[in-house]
Amino acid sequence: MALPKSIRILAAATLCIFFYMVVQIFKAPESLEAPGTGKLGKLDKWTKDPQLDPSGEPPEPLRRVEGDNYEPNNPNSARINATILSLVRNEELDDLLQSMNDLERTWNHKFNYPWTFFNDVPFTDEFKKRTRAATKAAVHYEIVPKEHWDVPSWINMDLFGESVSVLVEQKVQYMPKLSYHQMCRWNSGLFVKHPALANTQYYWRVEPKVHFFCDIDYDVFRWMQDHNKTYGFNINIYDSPESVTTLWPETRKFMADHPEYLKENNAIEWLQDKERRPGHNELAHGYSTCHFWSNFEIGDMAFWRSQAYQDYFDHLDRAGGFFYERWGDAPVHSIALGLFEDKSKIHWFRDIGYQHIPFFNCPNNPKCKGCVTGRFTDGEAWLNQEDCRPLWFKYAGMD
Ligand code: GDP
Ligand code: MN
Repeated sequence: MALPKSIRILAAATLCIFFYMVVQIFKAPESLEAPGTGKLGKLDKWTKDPQLDPSGEPPEPLRRVEGDNYEPNNPNSARINATILSLVRNEELDDLLQSMNDLERTWNHKFNYPWTFFNDVPFTDEFKKRTRAATKAAVHYEIVPKEHWDVPSWINMDLFGESVSVLVEQKVQYMPKLSYHQMCRWNSGLFVKHPALANTQYYWRVEPKVHFFCDIDYDVFRWMQDHNKTYGFNINIYDSPESVTTLWPETRKFMADHPEYLKENNAIEWLQDKERRPGHNELAHGYSTCHFWSNFEIGDMAFWRSQAYQDYFDHLDRAGGFFYERWGDAPVHSIALGLFEDKSKIHWFRDIGYQHIPFFNCPNNPKCKGCVTGRFTDGEAWLNQEDCRPLWFKYAGMD
């Protein structure tokens, strides 16, 4: 019995829709779109971490191990001019070995980039012996010159003491710890002046007690060079605004004197956002406090050595906020990058699974082990509000 024509058309249409839907469901995911792009307000609806979406390696070209091209003693190796570096204390040896073992296992046992360790006091023999045993690559041990570590002459220690009392009251973490201030200052502007790095261009900063979770199968430094990147980050968070109340005002003074340093296609909107966390912006006098979390940094030291950055650092150093407040190297680096660099030269290393207590970067990628996909923190729930990647993705994108 033949079906009426209208029923046959309906059946054919239903079948077409059915197949279309099946194709849609099984089709590979679309290329990722930055959450929060487009209209303001869309950000607040950002309830899903982009790391939940499957992702892989960044775009080609990717330089890989072929034969002996990255062997430690190959005089013609494919390595470029770069080092993994770490400022670390002797007492942190076990925690550092944890970080080192993770990075060696996931990446550096393939590429064998040298490690350079810095300390304000000499490294112990045990430190040298055990770190040397943790890698096939070359290892260097360097002391920070006194003139780079000591509190500069223009800092008034009475005023420092008073500032400590005030900011401890406001719960600024580490405020009383003088060495913490020295460390932040060194990491901000002085590390690139160490003579041992004079001929080195790229660096990967590593701290004790961090974790790396994902196998990385390309030369990360070479990727930075091939793709013309200045800086790579992996976590983006808000700062405690009480620690940087005059950092933005000082920055504005500097910019008034040096408008020529402002780069085209900068990320000033990211620095000045006041929609998402207005209270932070207000306390920090116009700075969102959003920053690249600098315990992870992959960067080109030419940027920190540039006239613009060195003038900026000197201005901040003279202003005294590394001691009278607790300006961190993270907000200082981030502000400089946001103003003096083209934002397309800043890269989110979404593929490098990472943890520094209490935050994570955990991609959805079969190359990762021990990292809960999309987890941002394993601490208390309120810590989730510290994530400011949505701001970076909104103003600069996810490249
Ligand atoms: P946090 O991550 O902000 O809690 O600070 P950390 O205690 O991890 O310090 C940041 C980095 O600087 C780590 O690599 C430390 O090992 C290093 N560091 C901090 N203070 C000192 C110090 O006084 N001497 C040395 N040699 N390294 C330090
Ligand atoms: Mn740390």
